[in-house]
Amino acid sequence: MNPITIQQVAKMAGGLLLSGDPALAVNHFHFDSRELASGGVFIAIKGDRDGHDFLGAAIAQGACAAIISDQEKLPHNLPDGFALVLVNDTLRAYQKVAEAYRNTFDIPFVAVTGSVGKTSTKDVIGHLLASKLTIYKTYKNLNNHLGVPFSLLQLENEHQAAVMELGMNHAGEIDLLASIVRPQYSVITNIGEAHLEYFGTKEKVALAKAELLPHTDPNGVVFLNGDNEYLRRVSHLYDGSIMYYSVEGTADIWAEDITSTQEGTHFTYVSTDGVRFTVSVPLFGKHNVSNCLPAIAIALRFGLTKEEIQAALASVSLSAMRFEIIKSPTGAIFINDAYNANPTSMRVAIETFAGIFPDKKRILVLGNMLELGPDSDAMHTGIGELLNVYRDRFALVITIGTEALHIHNAYAGEKQHFATKQDSAPLLSSLAVNGNAILFKASRNTLLKDFPAELSAAL
Ligand code: ATP
Ligand code: MG
Repeated sequence: MNPITIQQVAKMAGGLLLSGDPALAVNHFHFDSRELASGGVFIAIKGDRDGHDFLGAAIAQGACAAIISDQEKLPHNLPDGFALVLVNDTLRAYQKVAEAYRNTFDIPFVAVTGSVGKTSTKDVIGHLLASKLTIYKTYKNLNNHLGVPFSLLQLENEHQAAVMELGMNHAGEIDLLASIVRPQYSVITNIGEAHLEYFGTKEKVALAKAELLPHTDPNGVVFLNGDNEYLRRVSHLYDGSIMYYSVEGTADIWAEDITSTQEGTHFTYVSTDGVRFTVSVPLFGKHNVSNCLPAIAIALRFGLTKEEIQAALASVSLSAMRFEIIKSPTGAIFINDAYNANPTSMRVAIETFAGIFPDKKRILVLGNMLELGPDSDAMHTGIGELLNVYRDRFALVITIGTEALHIHNAYAGEKQHFATKQDSAPLLSSLAVNGNAILFKASRNTLLKDFPAELSAAL
């Protein structure tokens, strides 16, 4: 970030400067004491643990200032000159500092939200824009009430645009994050089953995502996935221009002639304003074509030519564990899509996998999908039923974990169930041979995401 003074920080945070030289320059913020270094400001956030208890650790790392809300928890031996900013709510103060800092930048912001596909879409947009501009894009998946402020505070003068991923678990969260980011271009990728546990219905999920619309610059553009019926109902919430995109039919922007190869996907980008050109991306699945459509449309608005977009798309890559293809030491293909899972992304992964690697034996390793609420069993059963449709495409379906047993029970093809990933390891090691392609998919907390690397290391 560009250095600012602690006096400015106190003003941005709406806090009191309790100690320290007002002219003290600070150059980074963090709520994790381990991430601080010289010139850093520690934000003592009360979460599962109280950040105030880590103030000493932050100082040991080199922090020169802190934002606190609890004076009684201060260590007695603060170093000379250590700056303290007192606020009522440290999380809110962090967000306010990020917002004020963001407002010092007069550059276009792109915001991406949705139930699935946020990081992938953010990565494609970021990759295209980065071929022409110096941009900042959300680091990894830092998309929540802490991650968005963290990301904004990375901005520097050289940045000409920023691409931000906005995530949420509860209503009102996107409202807050979008009010801080104030994007010029916004994308909602999807409304799916993610977070149904908290929301109950998909209409409620759609409403929560649509909180992004009123915070988008009315002179900008909102891109909505037109293949999602829930997103078809939110357009009245935005005063500016809405562009629907589709991989299923026509819309304002759509894809034609989608074909997949071992290397990726070809398709033709078409829009009602007369633009039409073919592209090739080293990504798999219709869902990734869907993620590319708003990215191309945004790149065109940033002035990239058709040729520049074609060239940049040819070298796009997604964050790790999004359908990441890895060759095992023994020649098997491992596909790691186990960064996370819900019924929407599970379905997409199965359908994509069924359509690629025609000369390989396809094997699925599916784990639990978590946080699905009372319909969890039925949703796992639904995945088993989907697998039945593609039964002739799969040599074996391996399921792991209690919830995934419902997938196993509903599936009528070749199958094996295990209680834990350790139990399945001997079988998988024996299957990791040339000629087999093995897809791994499950929710993050099942740790199936680490399985391809663990198996490779043991081969
Ligand atoms: P998180 O909420 O964990 O941040 P995300 O919204 O950022 O997730 P990604 O990380 O981009 O989502 O993608 C996760 C998985 O969702 C992918 O590996 C893929 O299986 C699936 N997916 C990606 N894009 C789409 C899409 N447009 N529609 C449906 N499924 C998708
Ligand atoms: Mg993400």
